[in-house]
Amino acid sequence: MNINIQACGIIIITVIIYFNCSQTRLKLKTNNAYIAILINTTVCLMLDILSIVCIKNSSLIDGFLVSIICKLYLISLMSEAYWGILYTYADITRKYNKIDTITNISIITLIISSIATMILPIDWVYINNGSVVYTEGLACNITYAYCLSTIILNIVTCIKNRKIMTNKRFYSIIMWMMLWIIAALIQLFNSSILIVSFASVVGVMIIYFQLENPEKYRESNFKCFNQQAFIAYINQMYKDNIKFSLLVAYDLNLYARADMGQEDIRNIRKKYLKFLSTFTRLTFLYEHDKVILVFDNDQSCEMALDAIILASKKEFKGDGEFLKPFLYTIYDSTLLKSSDTMLNTINYTSMNLVQYEDRHDYINITENTLKMIEDENKIIGMIHRAIKDDRVEVFYQPIYSTKHHKFISAEALVRIRETNGNLIYPNVFIPIAEKSNLIIKLGHLIFVKVCKFISENNIKNMGLQYIEINLSVAQCSYHSLSHDFIKVMNRYNIDSKCINLEITESASYSSKVTLLNNMNKLIQKGVTFSLDDFGTGNSNFNYVMDMPVKIVKFDKEMVEEYFSNDKSNFIMSNIIKMVKGLNLEIVAEGVETEQQLNSLIDIGIDFIQGYYFSRPVNRQKFIEFILLNNKR
Ligand code: C2E
Ligand code: CA
Ligand code: CA
Repeated sequence: MNINIQACGIIIITVIIYFNCSQTRLKLKTNNAYIAILINTTVCLMLDILSIVCIKNSSLIDGFLVSIICKLYLISLMSEAYWGILYTYADITRKYNKIDTITNISIITLIISSIATMILPIDWVYINNGSVVYTEGLACNITYAYCLSTIILNIVTCIKNRKIMTNKRFYSIIMWMMLWIIAALIQLFNSSILIVSFASVVGVMIIYFQLENPEKYRESNFKCFNQQAFIAYINQMYKDNIKFSLLVAYDLNLYARADMGQEDIRNIRKKYLKFLSTFTRLTFLYEHDKVILVFDNDQSCEMALDAIILASKKEFKGDGEFLKPFLYTIYDSTLLKSSDTMLNTINYTSMNLVQYEDRHDYINITENTLKMIEDENKIIGMIHRAIKDDRVEVFYQPIYSTKHHKFISAEALVRIRETNGNLIYPNVFIPIAEKSNLIIKLGHLIFVKVCKFISENNIKNMGLQYIEINLSVAQCSYHSLSHDFIKVMNRYNIDSKCINLEITESASYSSKVTLLNNMNKLIQKGVTFSLDDFGTGNSNFNYVMDMPVKIVKFDKEMVEEYFSNDKSNFIMSNIIKMVKGLNLEIVAEGVETEQQLNSLIDIGIDFIQGYYFSRPVNRQKFIEFILLNNKR
């Protein structure tokens, strides 16, 4: 009996349908096309079996009925080929208009071919007592022609769109189509083997395991969709120009009681995720720490936001156990040009904006936010290019010693040289570099440049004792900072005493342990530290006492204040007394006039830095300045 192979096909297809339907699907276009393929394949197999049975019993059955059933089988084969091409198009909808015409042509030719198949004659052959059964005639030829041309069209489409298809998809579809062709050829030359419909089942199975297994889009632990699903989903939405809204709950920090174990924490996370997923079917876990909810309009997004904020305050805040993720929304996906921009924005917002906002609140990403992100990205790109093209320059501003009456040091201040020769000042790019890890790279480069400068110029002979280099907060809390810097100093063979690093009070906000560890290692080598920006904002005198610094730098603001009224005058005198009491030296920054200089010398300031002597200048001008002014 040659329906065994078809029976096998039915079993396989039933199993696939079961697996496919027992799981939550993302319902992408390809998923939907695949469901149609599954149904079509099942119908095709059944008609295949039915036609064989009919042919075998054709002596008992009306010939017209047999021919109708055989023809329906042929039509189901053609429609299978049609769905195959639709499946390919479901993925590459980027060239939407063109595809519309091709699919229209395919459906029209399918209809015409089906009608022709119904009208044209068909013969069935039944020999060797039923061991060989097949059909022939014009109707069959039409089927062959339609299927073959559609399969070839499918293969050509895949090859043409190779670049926008994933490897997996490309090869799976090609394999499926090749299976068809091979099966048809076998059947053409050996009519006793009816394997075309079975070959199609095998193809469908390949597609299932390679592309359509709903499991691959699921987050098994949390019963929601995964990151891959999110990317596939938004790709589809952007390709189809469909607007959507989304809400991101980032950083599921659990402010748990000390007695809570890992298991409890996991359970609460699970509970929270379950709660979030009640708002939309489209709940995704993205990069382990972000839950993304997708809505088809902004009203439902807004409603979900309100409900989540409320619930975070109530249900998830009892008994000392609560989750407080940071929430942000993008009400209108069309604000972002592509799915890539959307992914970047999500990463950027989670990394940067979130830290700067009140954690109780949420951010709605608007056009302004995006403009800001875009500007910052431009600056980040600018810094990267400047590093690559070696357009990062270090300027030096001399520092005058009131005791030695000459310049004994300088502050290294970074600038970026634009390609047109203009300078970009650090206030433009340092704060942005600080937000990303870029400051580590940039800071390292600046350090290298200063070490190189010291090693190439005999700064001691010029009367200079050390160069001051600014450190950002992120650098201070970077665990291998001291290790890296020591390596650089060794490489350039410079005396570590030539380096003074400026830190600010905010350096201790992140990780005081790492900061002190770095400082102590460098101090052991001979590097000294200054406390920069003293007198700005909320300077804390305790901090000065705490830190192993040698110099305190009075900020320009504080120096200006000193000259503005008697009260600040009195305060400053006392601060100077206290700092001196700790055996620390003082630099006054931002000194612009001779009068300021003289008063500062009078009250016992050790070092003066400011435009009065020199603006920060490039290394050449700096050397000239020092050689001229440090001559005795
Ligand atoms: P800062 O550390 O407080 O540096 C002193 C700033 O005051 C410099 O600005 C300097 O040009 C300016 N200045 C010096 N004397 C006078 C004066 O008499 N009058 C006035 N009005 N200004 C004066 P600059 O070079 O634009 O640097 C700005 C800030 O950028 C620095 O403030 C520092 O926080 C940061 N920065 C500069 N270079 C670096 C660097 O290499 N690494 C890091 N992490 N930050 C840097
Ligand atoms: Ca400084
Ligand atoms: Ca300063």
